[in-house]
Amino acid sequence: MGLYDFDQEWFEDFLTEYPAFRVRQLMHGLYGNFLLPADIVGLPAPLRSKLSLEDKLRPTLTELARSSSDRGQTTKYLFRLHDGAQIESVLMHSPKRSTICISSQAGCAMACEFCATGDAGFKRHLSVGEIIEQVIVAARDAKKDGRRLDHIVYMGMGEPLANYNPVLASVRRLLDYVGLSARKITLSTVGIVPGIKKLSGEKLPVNLAVSLHAANDTLRSQLVPINKKYPIDMLIEACREYLEKTNRRISFEWALIKDVNDSERDALELADLALSLTPSAHVNLIPLNPTSGGEVLHFSPSPLRQIQNFYSTLSGLGVNATIRRTRGQDIDAACGQLSARISLSRRSDY
Ligand code: SF4
Repeated sequence: MGLYDFDQEWFEDFLTEYPAFRVRQLMHGLYGNFLLPADIVGLPAPLRSKLSLEDKLRPTLTELARSSSDRGQTTKYLFRLHDGAQIESVLMHSPKRSTICISSQAGCAMACEFCATGDAGFKRHLSVGEIIEQVIVAARDAKKDGRRLDHIVYMGMGEPLANYNPVLASVRRLLDYVGLSARKITLSTVGIVPGIKKLSGEKLPVNLAVSLHAANDTLRSQLVPINKKYPIDMLIEACREYLEKTNRRISFEWALIKDVNDSERDALELADLALSLTPSAHVNLIPLNPTSGGEVLHFSPSPLRQIQNFYSTLSGLGVNATIRRTRGQDIDAACGQLSARISLSRRSDY
C-alpha cells in the first residue's frame, strides 16, 4: 500500500485529532497540486511530519528510467513497483492537450498474438494507488513544463476491465479530486463483455475504446484470444448497451497488420460493425507499432498505401475513421501497443 491507496475517509480516521478541513487541505495538496505531504506548506508542521513518517504513506513508484521523443513532447516512464514488477506510462503533449497513458496491470493475461506485453504474460493487478500515482507523477511533470494534464487514457499495460474495482476507484478518485471531466477519460478494453456491461451501469460517462483488430470471429479469435469467450456478437451487443445507457461514444481500435487484417474485405467487415452501432463507432487505424514486439512475433505494420486504401474504403462507406500517427517510436516502447494506442489521445473529437 502507498500514499495514493488511501481515500479521504481513511485520512479522516487516521487524523482524528485534526479538524476536517485539514484533511481537505491534504487531499487538495496531494491531488490538486501533486505534492507530497512534506511539501504541503499549508499544513501544520507536526501534521506534515506525522504523515511523512508513516511508512504506508510513501509513494510506491520508483522511476527506473524515462525517455523522451517527439522533441520532448512525448515522455515514457518506466517504474518499478514495491515487489519488483515494472510498468510503463507515457505522457504526451500536443498543442491542445496533455495526456497520460497509464497501465492498469503489470503484464497482461490477454495474450493478444501481436503484443509483446501479452507474450510476456501476466504478473499482477495494480492497486488503486499504483494507478493513480502514474497520473500524479505525470501531472507534476506537466505542471513543471507549464502544461496542465487534462486527459487520461487507460491504454498502457494490461486490460483495465480485468482489474475492474481498482480501475473504477481510480477513475472516481481522479474525477473527484483532480477535477477532470469523465469525458476526458478513456478506458480501453479488448472485449471483456461482463466488464463493459457493468461499466454501463456506473453512471460514469467515460469514453470506451474497444480494441477490435478483426471483425470476424475466425481472425479475431486468433489475434485476440479472449474473443473465443466473448465473440463479436456478444461484444457488439455489450457496446450497444453501453451506448444506450451512457450516451457516450465508442471507438474501435484497429492495429493494421500487413497481410493479416488490412484487406478490403477486412475494411468492409469493420464498416459493417462500426455502422451497426448508434451512434456509429469511430474507427482509429493504428499502424502496428514497430517497437511493439510485433516484429518479434512475426507481424509487420501495413504499408502506407494499404493503410490509405483501408481508410478510403471505410470513409467511402460513411465510417468516421482516423489514421493515427504513432508517437514515441524512437523511444523504447515495451508495452504491446502502448505507444501506438496512445495516439488516440490526439483525437480532437473525444
Ligand atoms: S494488446 Fe492489450 S490486452 Fe492484448 S495482450 Fe497486449 S496489453 Fe493485453
